[in-house]
Amino acid sequence: MSNWLQQITRPEIWSMKGYSSARSEMADFAGMIQLDANENPFLPYPMSKEVHQLNRYPEPQPKAVISRLAAIYGVHKDQVLVARGMDEVMDLLVRVFCIPYKDSILFTPPTYGYYQVAADISGVGIVKVNLEDDFSLDADKLINAGRNKVKIVFLCTPNNPTGNMIDIAVIEKIALNMPNSIIAVDEAYMEFADAPSAVSLLNKYPNMVVMKTLSKAYAFAGVRVGTLLASNEIIKLIGKVIAPYPIPVPSINLIIQALSPFGLEVANSNIDVIKLERERMYQELSKVSGIHVYKSQANYLLIKVSEASSVYQHFLSRGIIIRNRSRDIPNTIRISIGTVLENNLVLRAFGVDIKEYLVSERTAVIVRKTNETDILARVNLDKKEPVKISTGIGFFDHMLEQLAKHGGFSLEISAKGDTHIDYHHTVEDVAISLGQALKNALGDKRGINRYGFVLPMDEANAAASIDLSGRGVLVFKANFPTPLIGEFPVELVEHFFLSFSDKLEAAIHLSATGGNAHHMVEGLFKACAKALNQAIKETSDDIPSTKGSI
Ligand code: PMP
Repeated sequence: MSNWLQQITRPEIWSMKGYSSARSEMADFAGMIQLDANENPFLPYPMSKEVHQLNRYPEPQPKAVISRLAAIYGVHKDQVLVARGMDEVMDLLVRVFCIPYKDSILFTPPTYGYYQVAADISGVGIVKVNLEDDFSLDADKLINAGRNKVKIVFLCTPNNPTGNMIDIAVIEKIALNMPNSIIAVDEAYMEFADAPSAVSLLNKYPNMVVMKTLSKAYAFAGVRVGTLLASNEIIKLIGKVIAPYPIPVPSINLIIQALSPFGLEVANSNIDVIKLERERMYQELSKVSGIHVYKSQANYLLIKVSEASSVYQHFLSRGIIIRNRSRDIPNTIRISIGTVLENNLVLRAFGVDIKEYLVSERTAVIVRKTNETDILARVNLDKKEPVKISTGIGFFDHMLEQLAKHGGFSLEISAKGDTHIDYHHTVEDVAISLGQALKNALGDKRGINRYGFVLPMDEANAAASIDLSGRGVLVFKANFPTPLIGEFPVELVEHFFLSFSDKLEAAIHLSATGGNAHHMVEGLFKACAKALNQAIKETSDDIPSTKGSI
């Protein structure tokens, strides 16, 4: 290991041996009788899915988790260490590098509070370099204050609570000019930002480390997963100090699911919504007089108000908890971006007229997982965009796009199914999820037309009529001239509409005649879309049934 690293590491940590267990010494235990770790051979009581693994210690650094994180963050596997949240990563850095009552760390107020706490717990000193009035960071000021004086510089980007980024050139300048300090970049909110990650600097500056978390973008705050990305030398050093088996078995299993290709699609889709909502909230709140909203690249907004404590109380009285940040920046509050409904309630608390939003948002999300398919379906009946379809079946994607475009609603479908076996499961499960999503989005169906019909469509002559009646019925009449469209079995079309009508709880009548199966199927999807478009339109305030409910 390099001399440089030895010089900035606490000597006792450098020379100690980390805890060694059978799990850390032997890579694979499969098929062996395990009498090495004083575990209990019997299965415990709570009957969870993981029950067959619960009586055994987990892998100290689970290989499957490490390799997924390395791929996602774009580093080598030996540059990754996983811990219980990023807060633990910070604590480990301080304990490894800082000699108590002698060394110091540096951070840049107003910023995240745990850097100070981690230092205080370990008896480590603090150097503060304040951000400028516009929350930018002056690299020269920081370098002058910290060079050869501090062991670790914590840089938070996007910064909590201000929401702005530290320019990557500023981070690089600091890493270059402070070679005897660890430059620890906190990228807790980076997935919400439109800016490059400092991970690209890791291989260039051995003193750089980047910290990540699954708490924010991956909605995994309750699972406690933080990651350190650094040179393998630093990873090994930190690995000596971390608790022997930090990540519990149930958490490991959950992390592997969250980081699967499908899990990432769910996360990315949610990130997209949060970013859109951040923009909407920014635009709306910028129009409110007497407050100032700062631009944010994270999943919260910092807002300057005339009196933060009374605004805080005002929100509390409406059942909304926000954060009063006045201790760091006078008369500011920080509000997380929530669901569309939660955000509307925030707007209303600021006196914004939200009628427009209340009537126009008919949305639903379905996430459906079976042994055969993983499906995400997101609809918004009151928006036309985005339409993003990916089922792994080209022809089916094309048909679903027709359904959304001509139905006049926004639709995102992402499906991962066993299409290598057959298209059947994917088509059926997409139909179920889509039908369910549309039904949920329609809610109590107040104000809608309820009925829709179209006749006929070009030479293929497709006809569709729909009643959003609350009862699933399909009447399907089409004799296709060929059994396949490319590789797509035409019989699945009826099957799709059967599952779709069942879950949407709609009576759907479809018929098509013609000489070309592709035209007929496309005609059916378009006709159904047009009929749906009519039926879901809101034209009054009433429930469209004499019974008063459907
Ligand atoms: N860094 C920042 C900037 C944060 O705001 C937070 C949590 N609020 C964390 C790190 C902690 O992350 P974790 O949940 O992974 O401990």
